[in-house]
Amino acid sequence: MKREDVDVLIVGGGPTGMAASLMLSDLGIPNILVERREKISAIPKAHYLNQQTMELLRQHGIDRDVYRVAMPAANTTVRYVTSLGGDGPLDRKDLITFDAFGGGTQRAVSDRASPGPTAHIPQTMLEPILERHARAREQGSIRRLHELTRFTQDQDGVVATIKDMEGDSVYQVAARYMIAADGGRSIISELGIAMEGPRNMATLCSIHMTADLSAYLPGDAMITHVIDFDGPFQWGALLPMGPSWGPKCENWAFFFAYRPDDPFRLSEEGIVPALRSILNIPDLDPVIHPLTSTGSISEWSAQRIVAERFSEGRILLVGDAAHQHVPTAGLGLNSGLQDVHNLCWKLAAVLQEKAGPALLDSYGEERRAADLRTADWALFTFLTHAVIDLSFGFPPAATSAQKRAALAEYLADTPFGRTLRARGRELMGTLRTEFGALDIELGTYYPEGAFVPDGTPMPETDPMACEYRPVTRPGHRLPHAWLNGTGGRVSTLDLTGSSRQFCLIAGQDGSAWADAAQVVAQDIGIEIRVVQVGVGCPFADPNGHWDAVKGISETGAILVRPDNFVALRVHALDGDAVAILRDAMGDIVDMPDSGVQAASFIDAA
Ligand SMILES: Cc1cc2nc3c(=O)[nH]c(=O)nc-3n(C[C@H](O)[C@H](O)[C@H](O)COP(=O)(O)OP(=O)(O)OC[C@H]3O[C@@H](n4cnc5c(N)ncnc54)[C@H](O)[C@@H]3O)c2cc1C
Repeated sequence: MKREDVDVLIVGGGPTGMAASLMLSDLGIPNILVERREKISAIPKAHYLNQQTMELLRQHGIDRDVYRVAMPAANTTVRYVTSLGGDGPLDRKDLITFDAFGGGTQRAVSDRASPGPTAHIPQTMLEPILERHARAREQGSIRRLHELTRFTQDQDGVVATIKDMEGDSVYQVAARYMIAADGGRSIISELGIAMEGPRNMATLCSIHMTADLSAYLPGDAMITHVIDFDGPFQWGALLPMGPSWGPKCENWAFFFAYRPDDPFRLSEEGIVPALRSILNIPDLDPVIHPLTSTGSISEWSAQRIVAERFSEGRILLVGDAAHQHVPTAGLGLNSGLQDVHNLCWKLAAVLQEKAGPALLDSYGEERRAADLRTADWALFTFLTHAVIDLSFGFPPAATSAQKRAALAEYLADTPFGRTLRARGRELMGTLRTEFGALDIELGTYYPEGAFVPDGTPMPETDPMACEYRPVTRPGHRLPHAWLNGTGGRVSTLDLTGSSRQFCLIAGQDGSAWADAAQVVAQDIGIEIRVVQVGVGCPFADPNGHWDAVKGISETGAILVRPDNFVALRVHALDGDAVAILRDAMGDIVDMPDSGVQAASFIDAA
């Protein structure tokens, strides 16, 4: 059987697999990606990229392509309406509208927190961008209609059997590492790793249609929730899918849910009548697109499951293969891309023999903790949806008549109507934990992992997670601040380039760090860029934002990892900068002291 050797085999060409390929390629690591599908899935899935994800896409030069086609941030509102059509007393009423996901009134705060605004882009538009970039990089070989059928591994690597579905042939790939980006469909069960957590909390459904809704939409929105007065769904959610945005959008996703114990299933013939009824547009004439081999309704199960560990030997799990979120708060895909970002620089450092294998252990240690946090937050926001019916006065399992009666009272121009609306606004305000959870999106931290703790306690966070409080404590994402350098304005998050280098940010009296970084970088063969910020330094802090968050004195320094997480923070230099930095780098990249010292000795000789 034909056999190929490669550093990394990636199984799965969904968003996390494609991102892994392009990031590894940027780091100079040859990789093969196999994907059994001929084309990108047509199912409307994730549609929200948070700021941390946009930052990592910015690091790899993909953000502009996303912004070019994504929905404008100004449209990022969420609406709850009674219907889109109709002229009855309860029709076309806007029950509540609020800004969401970094748009509108949230924009000023989110712009201060990150150089990358959020993006609303359907997964069906994102995946082609990632694939195009992955294919454009020479180190990656992207193979559609190639399926992993079996694999074995030993301490040196993985041998995978791949079926070329087009050529109807089989070949082997011997890889030093394998990334399971297969959505949990193929590999994890073979590894005996359990997925833990609640399953089957609801059956979520999506429909994809082309329809002209311009005459009916009350305004731009990222999500318009519509009451299902007469049908079985309680609510449905309408999302624009582009390519135009605003009311003129051509394609729409429509999401609804069945309760887990509900035997009812919408038939193919029932789709258009159900849409006409829910939206209250009797002459709606949509084109319904097929989504699966069996029809136009895609069903999936709401579950919050996380793998008990993220690796087994030389196989590393990322994205849905490692964790599956409920969709609320839009954290599933974002977490997957953040897994890959954490993993790729570590894999590259180990494969290029700049780091020891224990650096890879930190991948699962760090990302499992972060993914548990986001998966739990998503579930928490999912359960918070219980307030929605209460906000509008619907009793549990309300009948059509009860919903209409409750809404008539809610909308009435009476003192009690005003009370109901005020209560509704307060209750619906708790949904900010879903639509404005900036601390969940940007305040990622790793309790343990590849960094040197500085002994400071975990700072207090906003319990509702809406306020993000930037810190440079080791294990946390580096805060963003704009700096002025000789080449113009850069974010602190731009200093590590495309994850190719560490960066040491030193204070204005920290020239000893600059010298130390040069020595240590040469010793261990890892690039460390030095950036001094302050008066008379190459970088200025024009508006004092860095000064406000840096947490170090003018002789101190912060070492930033290639994935923009803080690896070391020294408040003030007290001792030998070379020794401090060498010890820290040795710990972080798992290089034994003896190796580092030997290299240093040879260099010095
Ligand atoms: C119907 C649906 C709706 C969703 N809606 C949302 C949402 O609204 N918001 C949100 O945040 N998330 C949503 N998600 C989740 C989100 O889409 C996922 O988090 C994201 O797709 C995960 O990407 P991935 O690359 O890890 O896995 P996937 O996208 O599942 O990609 C895995 C790929 O691996 C391939 N593969 C599997 N086994 C093999 C093999 N043996 N050989 C070769 N290839 C293989 C598959 O064909 C697939 O293309 C939804 C998911 C589904 C299924």
